[in-house]
Amino acid sequence: MSTTIPATKHVINTVGLSKDYTMGDMVVHALRQVDVEINQGEFVAIMGPSGSGKSTFMNLIGCLDRPSAGIYRLADQEVGQMSDNELAEIRNRYIGFVFQSYNLLPRTTAVKNVELPLMYAGAKDKTAKAIAALERVGLGQRLDHKPNELSGGQQQRVAIARAIVTDPVLILGDEPTGNLDTRTSEEIMALFQELNEQGKTIVLVTHEEDIARHCKRIIRFRDGRILKDEAVENPTDARASLAALPPAED
Ligand code: ADP
Ligand code: MG
Repeated sequence: MSTTIPATKHVINTVGLSKDYTMGDMVVHALRQVDVEINQGEFVAIMGPSGSGKSTFMNLIGCLDRPSAGIYRLADQEVGQMSDNELAEIRNRYIGFVFQSYNLLPRTTAVKNVELPLMYAGAKDKTAKAIAALERVGLGQRLDHKPNELSGGQQQRVAIARAIVTDPVLILGDEPTGNLDTRTSEEIMALFQELNEQGKTIVLVTHEEDIARHCKRIIRFRDGRILKDEAVENPTDARASLAALPPAED
């Protein structure tokens, strides 16, 4: 675990990636032959109607599930044949996850929540690293607060600190602004934008066009296939969007 992660340009590469779910004698083709390449430093939104395969795709690229067919390479390593333990290790080392409902441990301070992935990784200086990650997301003054003592936006910042504390190659978010109001969503997008400017590769599912337009590329799914995959011409600067909003109410 102490070896450094080799620098790579290719973060995600899939060839014919497919996922079927069998329910009784019915088969659902959730993902059909998806070919996609996402490189270092990209900032990608995944869009598409409900049931189009977005979560299935995220679960596969997040190494939470295995494909039925096709190839998935994460940072140039093929993950398809890995054991459960190997998958868990690669997930911990390479990927930071952010969820719609934050998924923090209740009754546990921000610092302890952020330390969690470091415990699994057996890292040194866990507390110092967790504090640094919380400072990076603007929560240096809330280190000992528990989730129920934090706003939704602050809880999502803790979750982002937890996602970046291991310095992952890839940050994945499944509707990370889905539970947040407009201003807080823009604040969270400004934070993702900043992390991307610092070189992080970020892939987010969203069903809001305004949120997606902060990203540099939008991949649209339909019926388990990629319908459209386009660069965003002038991504909206989340800091500018924030400045244009009416002042926060109390
Ligand atoms: P999205 O996230 O775009 O709403 P999903 O990836 O969740 O779409 O689902 C794609 C398709 O796969 C849907 O038809 C859904 O019902 C089906 N599906 C997803 N997960 C499962 C599962 N665990 N078992 C059976 N079918 C599933
Ligand atoms: Mg989904």
